[in-house]
Amino acid sequence: MSLILVRDLKKSYKIGSMEVPALNGVSFIIEEGEFVAIMGPSGSGKSTLMNLLGCLDRPTSGTYVLDSEDASKMNDSARAAIRNRKIGFVFQSFNLLPRMSALKNTLLPMMYANRRKDTAMAKDALNRVGLGKRINHTPMQLSGGEQQRVAIARALVNDPPLIFGDEPTGNLDTATGTEIMSIFQKLNDAGKTVIIVTHEPEIAQHAKRILRFRDGLLESDELVENRLTAVPKPRE
Ligand code: ADP
Ligand code: MG
Repeated sequence: MSLILVRDLKKSYKIGSMEVPALNGVSFIIEEGEFVAIMGPSGSGKSTLMNLLGCLDRPTSGTYVLDSEDASKMNDSARAAIRNRKIGFVFQSFNLLPRMSALKNTLLPMMYANRRKDTAMAKDALNRVGLGKRINHTPMQLSGGEQQRVAIARALVNDPPLIFGDEPTGNLDTATGTEIMSIFQKLNDAGKTVIIVTHEPEIAQHAKRILRFRDGLLESDELVENRLTAVPKPRE
């Protein structure tokens, strides 16, 4: 069974009496261990798709099966539960809590999942993104790239099989974006399935497969040729 199975997935938003179509029927399969970049012009439905795949929203119609569970038919609490177990999120704007240390930010998903706070696991996640020596820094005391590393540590802390990023390098300069891609590649090499949205062809070239969207439809689905390997900058 595939990790992700999407069949004829549709989503439209209601604004007053108007229906705004965002996804018009897309189908694809993603296997465990893939590294997928989602591309397409602004408004093509990328974030809508990520919200559906991430179990943050439900489709208007169609099927979404995540790890053998039909998420399209779940109620809100079932979707929240599967989200906490299976998915780690990384956002363009990092979304860290400003007054909390890197360590406390990393511990947050455990609290959301009603699990005991496991400081050792949070420290381990911060070590994996190269921030083991910055665990008591607050976001303001960290660079943009370091803040995104904290966000990745936070996404890893419940050990989900899937990592999602919606434009995770969108607010970073090229060198820092490449560093972040080196972390995603390392996680993917270690077995995590990674799915990111990006505008930048060079960022997408670090993935193994590119899905291109246009007007709410899947326009192309290609394996990456001449894949780039991001070489991380030595640090600490
Ligand atoms: P992308 O991420 O590719 O830029 P989106 O998925 O955000 O595209 O948007 C796809 C379409 O759905 C756009 O026309 C957008 O205006 C519309 N849309 C997205 N989110 C909402 C929402 N919450 N309410 C109404 N329309 C939305
Ligand atoms: Mg978007």
